[in-house]
Amino acid sequence: MLYHSTRSSQEKVSSKEAILQGLCPDGGLYVSDDIFNAGLDMKSLMELDYEQIVYKVFHALLDDYSADELKDCISKAYRGKFETEDLTPVSQIGDRYLLELYHGPTAAFKDMALCMLPQLMSKALKDEKVMILTATSGDTGKAALAGFRDAENIGITVFFPDGGVSDIQYLQMATAEGSNVNVAAVKGNFDDCQTGVKQIFARCSDTIRKERRISLSSANSINVGRLVPQIVYYIEAYKQLMKRGAVSYGDKVDFIVPTGNFGDILAGFYAKALGLPAGRLVVASNENNVLTDFFTTGVYNKKRPFVKTISPSMDILVSSNLERMLYYAADGDCSYVAGLMKDLAEKGSFEVTDAVMEKLDETFDAAYADNEESKRAIRKAWEKDGRLIDPHTAVGYRVAELMEEDRKEAGEAKVPTVILSTASPFKFAKDVYEAIFGPLHENADGFDYMAALAEKTGESIPKPLAELKAKPVLHKSVLEIGEMEQFVIDSLKVLG
Ligand SMILES: *Cc1c(COP(=O)(O)O)cnc(C)c1O
Repeated sequence: MLYHSTRSSQEKVSSKEAILQGLCPDGGLYVSDDIFNAGLDMKSLMELDYEQIVYKVFHALLDDYSADELKDCISKAYRGKFETEDLTPVSQIGDRYLLELYHGPTAAFKDMALCMLPQLMSKALKDEKVMILTATSGDTGKAALAGFRDAENIGITVFFPDGGVSDIQYLQMATAEGSNVNVAAVKGNFDDCQTGVKQIFARCSDTIRKERRISLSSANSINVGRLVPQIVYYIEAYKQLMKRGAVSYGDKVDFIVPTGNFGDILAGFYAKALGLPAGRLVVASNENNVLTDFFTTGVYNKKRPFVKTISPSMDILVSSNLERMLYYAADGDCSYVAGLMKDLAEKGSFEVTDAVMEKLDETFDAAYADNEESKRAIRKAWEKDGRLIDPHTAVGYRVAELMEEDRKEAGEAKVPTVILSTASPFKFAKDVYEAIFGPLHENADGFDYMAALAEKTGESIPKPLAELKAKPVLHKSVLEIGEMEQFVIDSLKVLG
């Protein structure tokens, strides 16, 4: 199984190389053409446990890893880090299902990928070491810190905007443990952090590699090593629905996916390509509904106001992983994809052909929910279904309703529907609490809201969040933007 750029198929690399590099040298994303004939016997996977399914999927898609390497990765990735017995339980919400992806170390779905990526990277390294640089607006930073903690021959440095993250997110990062982690606040906003990181890549990568034998890399969601682990929970969800007697093998199941960078839902497309009998994949967006417009009109236009919503992890106007889907929908026409991306960079928009739209229509639907609808969905889920959901999941809940109305109007039969639940409601306690019960007192902080939410609903706060208050703050650096580079150079010492 070889990987090449979405923008050119000339240079092909193994999965290890793709995982180490992250982004292709030409700016494209790594894709494989073999995914449609990977030869997985999907039905037989329904008999296996989660780790066994991981093994089968990885063995098919990351075939330059040896059996022993894969087994070692799998045993280190998830064990002992999740609060529930099933890593990703499926539960009922009204007459739909929730796929709960938030029981890991940071209480959000990025754990599913970021617990595994460091293991895959460690095995791909030969005699070099890697420093991961991450700029974060909150969630990714902590999930990466937790995932890369104590990884072999890999260090991690995270920058976040000083005063620009929630109190809980701040504590999650400032208390991060591990012999290989570095964290600093930067006097600036998220864009300053991100620009700073990009400049360090451009200015220092070559020197650091030459002088220290350390490569700089990133952990963002375009990495093949983040996508592939996400395929597994779609298969697991289907398996659990079979176990409940909700479907027999071969029945269609629709998946509603709260979407930002298109990584989560693309993994659903891969699961389908590998043979999973999934029905529709539904792209659920918040008010930054650039994807809803694209899937409706064929025009992707990022020139629009950026809206700050209560589902911040989906506040994205350039949905990076869509490029991979465009590649598959254009039947692997790299120069066509390169042209679209050029239009996006130069004009801020692109338009696809009718043929591409038809291909996308075979698999995807799209709809969005604004802030008010999301809040109503949180309240409705609690009052009608007795389920507490976070604002990202709430977008999925509202979109599920819209899809069902459409189906009813079209006279189509109802299909079992799974909403991917991407974060614990306690991670966004303030917005969730206020949506259901109204505002708490004026000086209430994140912990007050968590406690009040737990008390009013009888649900328990996830351990990783509850423990935060008592943890010592280990990372206190606050940097000027101009000091980021020296911080990275100093942080290389964690790699020996
Ligand atoms: C990242 C994130 C999403 C969006 O996932 P993509 O793979 O970027 O589409 C949705 N919900 C939460 C809570 C997230 O952290």
